[in-house]
Amino acid sequence: MGIYEQFGVTPIINASGAVTRLGGAPMPDEVLRAFNEAARVSVPLEQLQAAASQVIAAATATEAGLVSAGAASALTLGAAAILTGYDLGLMERLPHCDGFPNEFVVAREQRSGYDHAVRAAGARLVEVGFNEIVANAGVRRAEAWEYEAAFGPNTAGVLYVYSPTSSPPLEAVVEVAHQHQLPVLVDAAGELPPRSNLISIAATGADLVAFSGGKSIRGPQSTGILCGRQDLIGPAVAQLLDMDDHLELWNPPASLIDKTKLRGIPRHGIGRGFKVSKEEIIALLVALQLFTSGAYDEEVLKARARLGRIVERLNPSPVQCSIRDKGDGQSLPLLEIAVDEAAVGRGAMEICQRLRNGVPPIYVSHGSLQAGKLLINPLHLDDSNTETLAERVRQELEQG
Ligand SMILES: *Cc1c(COP(=O)(O)O)cnc(C)c1O
Repeated sequence: MGIYEQFGVTPIINASGAVTRLGGAPMPDEVLRAFNEAARVSVPLEQLQAAASQVIAAATATEAGLVSAGAASALTLGAAAILTGYDLGLMERLPHCDGFPNEFVVAREQRSGYDHAVRAAGARLVEVGFNEIVANAGVRRAEAWEYEAAFGPNTAGVLYVYSPTSSPPLEAVVEVAHQHQLPVLVDAAGELPPRSNLISIAATGADLVAFSGGKSIRGPQSTGILCGRQDLIGPAVAQLLDMDDHLELWNPPASLIDKTKLRGIPRHGIGRGFKVSKEEIIALLVALQLFTSGAYDEEVLKARARLGRIVERLNPSPVQCSIRDKGDGQSLPLLEIAVDEAAVGRGAMEICQRLRNGVPPIYVSHGSLQAGKLLINPLHLDDSNTETLAERVRQELEQG
């Protein structure tokens, strides 16, 4: 009996990829070995985060970095650092920001459930711009001048959610924010690969960038990265770490926290509830090294072959299969199965539901159900569960 069955929980076939609700990405053996070894030894966490900062800074070509409990927690810590800097009194007050600037300007079309993480620090979001193209009402999207027009005495910074199609371009937003001495916090949680984004997003001059550690990097699911300006990473990590020490004894590495900027030791900060363990930090660093070295690239071709086998098994059937491949040699391809509801007798939503409720449960990606499509993400597929998945999908398409 497997470890989950021992506790009465049934494992699934995950064809959805590194999604949080299904436990994220598979950790490579090398990462798991590092996790185990790190768990057996004690180290001061501020020294470990200082070492992590160097590794992250090198990987992202930034000044400093920290390992957070996921990208969402990196966003809360980043917002907290922008709100307070090294001011002990302000750190202590978060998430209440009465009497000091707490507004983050964000393009209305970049709002999402994840910005709760920024608001959790105490930030208030001020929306600008319209996506008139999506509204079928015009030809324009949010524009850089609209950020500037929203800046005022209560503005603390800018929130930007990065994607290849984000608009206005990050460079333009950074330029206008920096003209007003305002920092830009970037959510790039799921924007790896391509590996080049590790460097290119911060290279725009963005002040802080958040990435997930448990998506394509394949670190522990509960890790993330915040990287950027050293004078912001310091206050961010000071609001994350356990602060129960004497000022005389507390000796954080100067590369991580500038103690000269602090009048005392902060109390436990807004991030104390997002603590990251030593073994998680080590595992994330090892995973980051694997990711940056291109160690996962060889899986792209294998994944493509597996998706090809599923397509063969589904032929002939009343679906149209196509393999979506970014062709960058780093991103895993996706299999798109367009269901002809009239011919199959049931739609994509019902098939998705039946796959989840079957034995073993199969979770295909639900991202395109509205368009009548099932998506197969191969991240968790091996030769054996690929066969099971193909057979079950074939049955669902036949039994309509
Ligand atoms: C996944 C994601 C997050 C959250 O990342 P975690 O590492 O799970 O905390 C935040 N923002 C966006 C855009 C994401 O895709």
